[in-house]
Amino acid sequence: MKIIIHGGFFSESSTHLETKIAKQEALKKIASSGFEYLKTHTALETVVFTVSLLEDNPLFNAGIGSQIQSDGKIRMSASLMDGETQKMSGVINIEEVKNPIQVAEKLLSYDDKILGGEGAIQFARENGFNIFSTEIPQRKEEYLAKKQSKGLGTVGCVALDGNGKLAVATSTGGKGFEIPGRISDSATVAGNYANSHCAVSCTGVGEDIVSGAVAAKIVCRVSDGQTIQQAFHKTFNELLPFDGFAGAIGIDQLGNICHQNSHPTMVFASFDGDIYEIFN
Ligand code: ASP
Repeated sequence: MKIIIHGGFFSESSTHLETKIAKQEALKKIASSGFEYLKTHTALETVVFTVSLLEDNPLFNAGIGSQIQSDGKIRMSASLMDGETQKMSGVINIEEVKNPIQVAEKLLSYDDKILGGEGAIQFARENGFNIFSTEIPQRKEEYLAKKQSKGLGTVGCVALDGNGKLAVATSTGGKGFEIPGRISDSATVAGNYANSHCAVSCTGVGEDIVSGAVAAKIVCRVSDGQTIQQAFHKTFNELLPFDGFAGAIGIDQLGNICHQNSHPTMVFASFDGDIYEIFN
């Protein structure tokens, strides 16, 4: 059993040591809770549980900590993928929901698996999801100062369960101050992808992640026989010509964990019950 989580790129942490430490501590606790949960649940259940914990923590740019867009609204995106069935579900630009990843989980059993905007909000309402204002004062101040906080802090989790099954989930509040209607990578196969060989979650500039098809390429390369390290390196090398800004975490079916980022400020933690690692 293995678990790895990320809390995105922490621009605030580079300037505020306290924020950085708080985020690292939070990741450490959440990675441990996720691993405890994994002992008695599937990889798929675990990634939803763990990403929900990250969405509930205002330190991260997802769920209640989400960034505000240029029109003053919060719109979130989240998706998950079951490596065994290769089914993916997600929500794009959903509003007023505390845990977008749980709406994505609900959609997994529907024929229509990825919903956007009004349709996603309507679906969440009809299914009794917790509707409330996700806005936190820190984000409001950033918005009022009309500055793009660049707090790239999407969250993600990859898990390998005791039966050798992989799953991945990713959730984001977006880039911050974007044009309403902009689509994040987090609910696309570029930002979140899994099969029975490998599972990968990304963070960074969504446009670059989509251009580099990052998660899908890494998983495809591992499926075709590359080691997870080779697949990460090759895919990140392909971001260089356009200075793609991305980070990714992944696990292969043998339990090898990998992580890489193009600009070294991404924070993430992995835990396998024995060895705990925190990066950045
Ligand atoms: N990838 C996210 C987006 O572009 C942002 C992030 O990872 O922080 O919406």
